[in-house]
Amino acid sequence: MDLIISTNCPQCSADLDLAEETGGFHCAYCGSSLYPTGRQGVRRYYLAPREDPARLEKALVQALSRVGVRRAQMTGLKTVFAPYWRVKGTAYRWIFGKTRSSIKSGEAKMIKELKASSVDSTFAAFSGYDLGLTTLGVRPGVLKLRFFDLKEMGRLGVVLPVSVSHQQAKDRAESTRWVEWDDAEIKTSLDVSELIGERYSVIYFPFYLATLTQGEDHRVVILDAVANEASQVYTLAKWNEQARQAKGITAGDGFPEVQYIPFKCPVCGWDLPPNSVDLIHFCRVCRRAWEETAGRFQEVSYHTVSPKATPEGPLIYLPYWVFKVSLVLADQTVDTIDQFYRTFPLVITGRSKPTTPTGPIYFHIPAMKINSPLRLSKVAHAFTAIQPECRFDSDQTGLPPAGGGVFLDRREAGQMTRIVLLSLVTEGNHRLQKEMATATLHVLDHHLALYPFFEQGLYLRDAVCGTGIEKRGVFT
Ligand SMILES: [Zn+2]
Ligand SMILES: [Zn+2]
Repeated sequence: MDLIISTNCPQCSADLDLAEETGGFHCAYCGSSLYPTGRQGVRRYYLAPREDPARLEKALVQALSRVGVRRAQMTGLKTVFAPYWRVKGTAYRWIFGKTRSSIKSGEAKMIKELKASSVDSTFAAFSGYDLGLTTLGVRPGVLKLRFFDLKEMGRLGVVLPVSVSHQQAKDRAESTRWVEWDDAEIKTSLDVSELIGERYSVIYFPFYLATLTQGEDHRVVILDAVANEASQVYTLAKWNEQARQAKGITAGDGFPEVQYIPFKCPVCGWDLPPNSVDLIHFCRVCRRAWEETAGRFQEVSYHTVSPKATPEGPLIYLPYWVFKVSLVLADQTVDTIDQFYRTFPLVITGRSKPTTPTGPIYFHIPAMKINSPLRLSKVAHAFTAIQPECRFDSDQTGLPPAGGGVFLDRREAGQMTRIVLLSLVTEGNHRLQKEMATATLHVLDHHLALYPFFEQGLYLRDAVCGTGIEKRGVFT
C-alpha cells in the first residue's frame, strides 16, 4: 500500500500529490526543485473528515436502533483525530529441512527455501478510548493523506496524543515478521524469520463523536468520519469513564515536521538527478553523494571499484553497501576469507583461491532499487559468496557514477546481512544449519561502493568477478 500525500508547493502553493516515498521532484507549476525531508524518520499524516450528511444521518439512526433508542436529537457533534502507528517493511523467512514424505520413503528430499512478504499494518497509537477501529485496514491507501498540521487539525477538531511509544510500536511489529508458510509437510531443521527495512509512520484518522439525547438518555455514537459509518455506541456515563482514563496519558514521542529543501547539490548548486525513490543522490557535476539527514543534505563518502576484466561496453556503476563482518559460531570465530571459504564450502565458478587468505570478510548488499526481495537476496548472495578482491579507488571523483542512486538505506542493508548469511548454508549441511541457529554476525565497518557493470544481452554483468543481474530486475 503506497500512500498518496496531498500537499502544496512551498513556492507557488499549487496543489501537489506526492507518493509516500517521493524524494526529489520538480513542481509541475513553478518548476522549483524540491525535496521533502524526514523520509527516514517517523512521519505523521492525517486524513481529513468527509462529511456526507445523508449517510451520517442513516448511520446514526441505525446505530441507535440497535441499542433500542428511537427519535433522539443530536445535541453535539465533534471531530476527533486518533493516531495509529503504521509499520511497513519486508518479512523474510528461511526454512531448511526435509519433506516428511521423503523421510518415510527413505529418499530424503532436502528443503532450503527463502520466502518474503511485505508487511503493512496499522494499530492504535492512543490509549484509553475504544473507538471501534483496532486497525485502519486499507483506508489510508484509497484516500489522500496530508502531512500532520496541528493548526489545521485543531481547527477541525480534537487531536488525541500518541501514547504508545515508538519502542512499544516496534515491539508490537515484531509479531508481523512471520511469513505464512504451509510447513506441515516439512520437518524443519532451521526456521528463521526477520522483519527488515521496517519504517514507521503515524496516521491520524478522523472520527465523529455524535451526542444524541432522548429525554434523560444520552448516547455517544462514534463514527468513522471518512466512510460515515458508526463504529461504537456508548452511554454518556460509559464514554465519560473512558475520557477520565485517557486523561492521565502523556504525549509520548516528539516527531520532526516535514519541510521542503532545494533538491540541489549544496556545493555546486546544480539540480540533483531527478529520482523519485532514492535516498542518496549523486551530483552529476561534482560527483559528491548526498543524503538528507535532520533537514539538510549531508555528504556521504563512497568508493569506486576498478574493473578487472575489460568491459564489453560502457560501464554502468551500481551502488553496494559493503559490510566488513565477523561471525561468531559456537566453537569458532570466522573473520578471514580463508576461514569463510572453509566454513561455507560452496561450489561456485569465479571463486578462486584468495591471494590474501587472512583478508577480511565483506558482505555485499546491493543498494540500488531491486524489484523483489528474493532477487535482492540473490544479488547480495552472488558477491558475498565469491568475496571479490577489489581495489577501492579512494579518489571518488575518478569515475562518473552513471546509473541510479542509492535506494536501500544502510540500516536495512545491515539487516539483510543475516538473510544473506543463511543463503550461504547448503541444504545438506545439517551441522552448519544447527550452528546458524545461535550464530551472531557482527558488522565491524561499512562503506558505500560503486561497482562497475556492463550490459550483456538481458543481463548486467559485473566487471570484477563476472556475475550477472537480470536487467529487468534492477531500476537504474
Ligand atoms: Zn510550485
Ligand atoms: Zn555538485
